[in-house]
Amino acid sequence: MPQTTKDTPMMQQYLAIKKDYQDAFLFYRIGDFYELFNDDAIKGSQLLELTLTARNKSAQDPIPMCGVPHHAAQNYIDILIEKGYKVAICEQVEDPKLAKGMVKREVIQLITPGTMMDQNASTAKQNNYLTAVTKYQTIFALAYSDLTTGEVRTTTLKTFEEVVNELLNLNTKEVVVDDQLSSEAHQRIEALGIMLSQNKKLSDSSEFHFVAQKTTHPGELAALKILISYLLSTQKRSLSHLQQAESYEINQYLRMNHSAKANLELFESLRTAKREGTLLWLLDRTKTAMGGRLLKQWLNRPLLNEQQLNQRQEVVAILIDHYFERATLQQALQKVYDLERLAGRIAFGSANGRDLIQLLNSISQIPTIKSVLEELPEPTLQKMGQDLDELADVRELIGAAIDEETPVSITDGNVIKPGFNQQLDQYRSAMTDGQSWLAEMAAEERKKTGISTLKVGYNRVFGYYIEVTNANKKLVPTDRYQRKQTLTNAERYITPELKDREALILQAREKSTELEYQLFVEVRDQVKAQTGRIQDLAKQIATLDVLQGFAVVSEAGHYVRPQLSTQSQDIEVINGRHPVVEKVLPANAYIPNSVIMKADTNILLITGPNMSGKSTYMRQLGLIVVMAQIGCFVPAEKATLPIFDQIFTRIGAADDLISGESTFMVEMKEANDALLHGTRHSLLLFDELGRGTATYDGIALADAIIEYIHDHLGAKTLFSTHYHELTQLADRLKQLKNVHVGATEENGKLIFLHQLLPGPADKSYGIHVAKLAGLPNQVTQHAAQVLNVLEADSNGLVNETLPLTEQLPLFQIAESPEPEAATPNQLPEQVQSLIDQVKGTNLMKLT
Ligand code: ADP
Repeated sequence: MPQTTKDTPMMQQYLAIKKDYQDAFLFYRIGDFYELFNDDAIKGSQLLELTLTARNKSAQDPIPMCGVPHHAAQNYIDILIEKGYKVAICEQVEDPKLAKGMVKREVIQLITPGTMMDQNASTAKQNNYLTAVTKYQTIFALAYSDLTTGEVRTTTLKTFEEVVNELLNLNTKEVVVDDQLSSEAHQRIEALGIMLSQNKKLSDSSEFHFVAQKTTHPGELAALKILISYLLSTQKRSLSHLQQAESYEINQYLRMNHSAKANLELFESLRTAKREGTLLWLLDRTKTAMGGRLLKQWLNRPLLNEQQLNQRQEVVAILIDHYFERATLQQALQKVYDLERLAGRIAFGSANGRDLIQLLNSISQIPTIKSVLEELPEPTLQKMGQDLDELADVRELIGAAIDEETPVSITDGNVIKPGFNQQLDQYRSAMTDGQSWLAEMAAEERKKTGISTLKVGYNRVFGYYIEVTNANKKLVPTDRYQRKQTLTNAERYITPELKDREALILQAREKSTELEYQLFVEVRDQVKAQTGRIQDLAKQIATLDVLQGFAVVSEAGHYVRPQLSTQSQDIEVINGRHPVVEKVLPANAYIPNSVIMKADTNILLITGPNMSGKSTYMRQLGLIVVMAQIGCFVPAEKATLPIFDQIFTRIGAADDLISGESTFMVEMKEANDALLHGTRHSLLLFDELGRGTATYDGIALADAIIEYIHDHLGAKTLFSTHYHELTQLADRLKQLKNVHVGATEENGKLIFLHQLLPGPADKSYGIHVAKLAGLPNQVTQHAAQVLNVLEADSNGLVNETLPLTEQLPLFQIAESPEPEAATPNQLPEQVQSLIDQVKGTNLMKLT
């Protein structure tokens, strides 16, 4: 029976390895190529646009195959990871020349979306997080890491909703789980477009013990163990750059759920989903990749601590005032490479000579930064300067060892500097001596033979040779020269002494490159032993970089230092601006608006026509609060702000794409979230809440929600509406103030003033606009009549003749003195019962 291709020893080896990596593309190394077989080849050839061929085409059952050259493999791997696949790298783990029978092969690394080490320019300012999630008793525990930087963090969360929120906030690419989560939870994670991986085996590693040193919560420890086990089992090497895990609680920071961050356009523009037009885009004047990543983390988690915020503000103020020092710092920072990721690559064993040179050039900037900081008249900066580790030992080592012009490859020589190692210098001079010996010999042979064109050359197959053109062949001393190769116009010879010398030269070359590699690895290992110090330095540099960036934007935008207070809830923003809208509009086109909400005002009810600037005004306050709580200055003439604990938003009408729920459902859920979890320290931004349902439903709900906020939450709230009826609430709710955004008519054209004015908007605005748009008089007059009738009917909704407070149960339940006293689970029922009651009432018949 003829042997089929499947039975060959190589295919058997392939299939045995593939068995353990069913869910990954197996890149199987054969010589200079990685080959894919079977289904991997069929799918891979499509995804990577490779030609699909077959191994052993003429056999009974040819095996589908495609391949990529090993030196170009990274691009292909990146594409597959980007598309959400895993790639297992299978290498020849013994020298094929020495192998008896089949070359041994092993998977040396499993690359997954959450464990990608290779980072390019476009991802430099982004963290790549892998998150482990598990359940511990009734709560959830999370541990996440960025393998490229070694950062590790853990937390516990009460609900799965909070888990989802945190995964979205982190922009996690991959979640690792054990068997503690329900299959619904798995589905939910996958529905977010996140890869879900199962950790197969928990391992007790030195990495785990190091990382978990400060971790005390049993749930967080469990999550950490899953995370580290998964990292070790996929990366298959020691991971000495993983840092000690930091535990955090989400309520240590200003809390915003994912949709609040989306609504405020912190990281992504709502319209384009791009970075442009976002707060991050505006604020990012960082010079280093580390600074860029840290800024994003700060924006994700603004602070609550007054002292820390004051410290940041102080630094920003000093950096604004000291322009020249700041310029020196910026020039130095500009030359600092990504220390965190360099440290990661060094520890990971994937750093080359150029990486070490980048590290050297980066730390060479530290003395400058240090001395500038130490001279500035501000204790935080001085301390920062004193604490900077110049890493002089590392600088000296790399400076002495690594050639500045080192090539990318670390195995082909020219990596180590002369003078670093005596043995290497000897090999090198043997090589140079050999070269001059060859030159002398050639000169002597030319004299002896009289062949003036005689030359010495080298090729890989024959080594060194003497070459004589055909015309001079007859002059060759055949007793000494031995013919080796015939070309069309020349003849090549060797001599015994040439071959002896060749052996010496080649030996020296081989030994020298081998020794260079060995020396390089030794240097790299010595640097690796300092990983912790490099990481500390990276953190300090990143912090400085973010703060100098704040100084730059604050100065350029004429921002002011906000006065923060934990004592009072008063808001006083004088002539504030929306920083991003201001930036994209022509100079001076933005109309500043103040936000004044002292003790007598908790709710601003904002009316005004569409496009007048209501939601811009709300977002303006939201962004000013976020900027203030990351330590930046704010776009206003003067700002006094409380420190908020949470921001809730309902802005825009976009359906929740993630859960696929209707606008109205999402509106109600977001409102409910705010009513349940908000406190009097929270900021609520509700834009046209209630528009997702029928008018009366909407008005009634908006009315009830406003009253609840007013009477029981006491949170500072901006509420915009196009229901003019709601403006009458000001008669009853003492802490609600009506404001409106003005518009005017000029030469028959509608002009938006974008100016916030006291009192409610003119109610017949819509008809006014219709007139301006040129609708026939007949139509607009009729509309005005209908409006009058409707208003006469609906007034009852919010004036004394329908005192909702006496009729609807929400307000009785909510009579408990402390808002916190209302148990969270009661509320949805209250809201539901309110909806039912309103629906069951024929409002048109009420007077
Ligand atoms: P609304 O919520 O009332 O429909 P928006 O807040 O969306 O209106 O504002 C509509 C447009 O008006 C914005 O895109 C912006 O360009 C412009 N705008 C809003 N506020 C201002 C302002 N204070 N100064 C200048 N232009 C503004």
